[in-house]
Amino acid sequence: PKPYLGNPQETIAVLNRYKFAFQKKFGQNFLIDTHVLERIIDEAGITPDDFVLEIGPGIGTMTQYLACAAREVVAVEIDKVLIPILEGDTLKAFDNVTVINEDILKVDINKLVEEKNGGRPIKVVANLPYYITTPIIMGLFESHVPIESITIMVQKEVADRMKTGPGSKEYGALSLAVQYYANPEIVANVPPNCFMPRPNVGSAVIRLTRHETPVVDVKDEKLMFRIIRASFNQRRKTLVNGLKNSGEINFSKEQIEAAITTIGKPLTIRGEALTLAEFAALSNAFSDM
Ligand code: SAM
Repeated sequence: PKPYLGNPQETIAVLNRYKFAFQKKFGQNFLIDTHVLERIIDEAGITPDDFVLEIGPGIGTMTQYLACAAREVVAVEIDKVLIPILEGDTLKAFDNVTVINEDILKVDINKLVEEKNGGRPIKVVANLPYYITTPIIMGLFESHVPIESITIMVQKEVADRMKTGPGSKEYGALSLAVQYYANPEIVANVPPNCFMPRPNVGSAVIRLTRHETPVVDVKDEKLMFRIIRASFNQRRKTLVNGLKNSGEINFSKEQIEAAITTIGKPLTIRGEALTLAEFAALSNAFSDM
């Protein structure tokens, strides 16, 4: 079979056939542009060897493209109304696709990768529901699922946040987490008219390629991320005050000042001025105490 969804006419035909009502709470904006779909498959670099996890297939538009390019696809969809449409209609002819009716945040992805791909790294491809972009990405990274790359449609502003460094007001915990685990590249900008219904924001496709070896040396990853969160929770404050008042970590003012001095920074510095390498060094200074 060939992909046939991905244009407004076919999408509307499916929606009408099932009297489907879009649910805002699930972030449902379906792709209706074949060029964008082809671009995503292309940028994700899917080969016939690949196992692909798709998050939120909707009516199965991108799933059809993925099924044609990959060895096997598992698509996790939370909206139970969509399951009969996917299984009984739009994906019926594609025999290498499995649909799971579940909240992606509740799926044991490590187990899935073990069962379906012998624990080898998978590719994740999705047009994400924007209301849970950050928890999905953080969950994938923090659970240490074997992943080669994540190619996802996100809100343009979120794509910018993932890529940026110190000095930008978009810089934050998400930037550092993404850059710690992966190399982010924005591979396409996508306007609202490529979706049905149209979102109120611009979108971008970002590809996160997992680092093969860590870019910084961290003795205690969890501690580093607690420090990062503490620094950005109160980003108007100095790093000393942010860390002291955070509840994320339990070091005294003297210890905090000593750690900042160890990494060669003034005590007046703000957390938002530190690079990933500096957060790693700071975290290691606390580990050594
Ligand atoms: N992939 C389709 C496309 O591109 O046309 C649909 C993308 S739409 C932006 C997001 C999809 O994710 C919707 O189908 C929505 O129901 C689903 N979704 C929302 N929250 C989810 C969750 N927690 N777990 C799994 N799927 C979810």
